[in-house]
Amino acid sequence: MTRLSDSLHDTIREQLKEVIPSPTYETWIDPIEFYRQDERAVVVPVANVYVQDWFERKYKSVISKALCCALQKEVEVVFRVSPAADPRASSEREPASPQTITSTHETEQAQGSVATLPMTDLQIIPAYTFENFVVGQSNRLAHAAALGAAENPSRAYNPLFLHGAVGLGKTHLLQAICHTLLSRLPDIRIHYTSCEGFVNDYISAVKRSELDPFRRKYRELDVLLIDDIHFLANKEGSQEEFFHTFNALHNASRQIILSSDSSPEDIATLEDRLISRFKWGMVARIDPPTFETRVAILRKKAETSGYDIPNDVLNYIAEKIDTNIRELEGAVLTVTMRSEVESRSISLELAREALGDVSRSRPRPIQVSDIQTAVCDHFNIRLSDLQSRKRSQMISLPRQIAIYLTRRLTPYSLEDIGGYFSGKDHSTIMYAIDRIKERVASDPQLRATVEALHAHLLEQSQKHPSWMSRPA
Ligand code: ADP
Ligand code: MG
Repeated sequence: MTRLSDSLHDTIREQLKEVIPSPTYETWIDPIEFYRQDERAVVVPVANVYVQDWFERKYKSVISKALCCALQKEVEVVFRVSPAADPRASSEREPASPQTITSTHETEQAQGSVATLPMTDLQIIPAYTFENFVVGQSNRLAHAAALGAAENPSRAYNPLFLHGAVGLGKTHLLQAICHTLLSRLPDIRIHYTSCEGFVNDYISAVKRSELDPFRRKYRELDVLLIDDIHFLANKEGSQEEFFHTFNALHNASRQIILSSDSSPEDIATLEDRLISRFKWGMVARIDPPTFETRVAILRKKAETSGYDIPNDVLNYIAEKIDTNIRELEGAVLTVTMRSEVESRSISLELAREALGDVSRSRPRPIQVSDIQTAVCDHFNIRLSDLQSRKRSQMISLPRQIAIYLTRRLTPYSLEDIGGYFSGKDHSTIMYAIDRIKERVASDPQLRATVEALHAHLLEQSQKHPSWMSRPA
């Protein structure tokens, strides 16, 4: 199959834009891609069966029309489920390319040249800014400290150590610091990476006996940000190297910013000398948001996504989901998608149905927790192990299968999925999905297991909507 040319894509998008209202167009239609299968058919990859079903019913005819016009002949449009296609995640279309942030200042100066975050292994999300971060009691200190570090690097707090459970906004704040620094100081030397990125860099430098370039890369910086530093647990060599990196930067008054899922002293097997260094500057904890903050976050998400969500629905979601902000976002997505699929306006009744309080005839979107539970039951392992970073084969294979199924059965982006699996970054998630794809292709027994789990989940969602656990 070959992808239609960019100019054909532009023509088709122009036409669709005229007939499909935004925000539907922006969220779902704009990111889709068209592939020529043969003379008579064009394939549109979609992320899962729900999106496929929805496109079939609502948009097949307009998309066919736009295609026929652009290609000047009759063609059939086929929506094909492909786990690699996520219509919402346009930024993932080229997952292998290095991620960059554009600094407005430099773009103005040098027409299109970009200030880059040098070679980060993490996906940089333009929306993770301070403006889009809702401040409440639970994150006020972390937010103020992050803002201080962004406005006064190396002078406010050094190091800045943010910690809190998954899905509470650590990555958002770290990236907000990057956005602010790069737009204010385009020449600043800044490196933002996951701890896994740091560890992998170090290991490959050791293997190639190229420690000097590695050290220059990490020590000749104005600001170093490392996300999920708890990943250093159990990695003695990397801890040693990080210790020296830390000292070099700190002695030169360069800003260090770290995030972690637990406080410095609670990171298992972290050396005492690192624990004490992490506490030299500011340690700020992020707690789960209060009800008021959850409502404020939901209101902000609704505003930015362009959906009109009534207050009683926002309150209902905020009451129902009281832990994690990622789950809140998932609930908004579930509710808005249901309203789109069924062409109904968003109401309390619809939200109740979508989030599983009322039995209904249509299948409810499968939740990540349903997939995790089904995989744990099948392999007879604990949920906490599946969600942990343990690497034994007994745990990592089921975990990779769960990640693969999540990609196939939910509309979540790689980033989102990472959040459900101890905050893995999008390249790790991509790796897990590719691993299972390869193994399914060559190992019939594994294929049977994966397909059985897939079928089981789909069947349960259709037959017994109440079987599904609630998304909180
Ligand atoms: P963590 O890194 O702590 O696991 P993230 O930073 O990935 O969490 O946050 C999860 C999701 O919740 C992201 O989409 C983020 O934008 C959103 N989020 C978290 N905190 C806030 C907040 N205070 N205001 C708005 N959105 C938030
Ligand atoms: Mg994170």
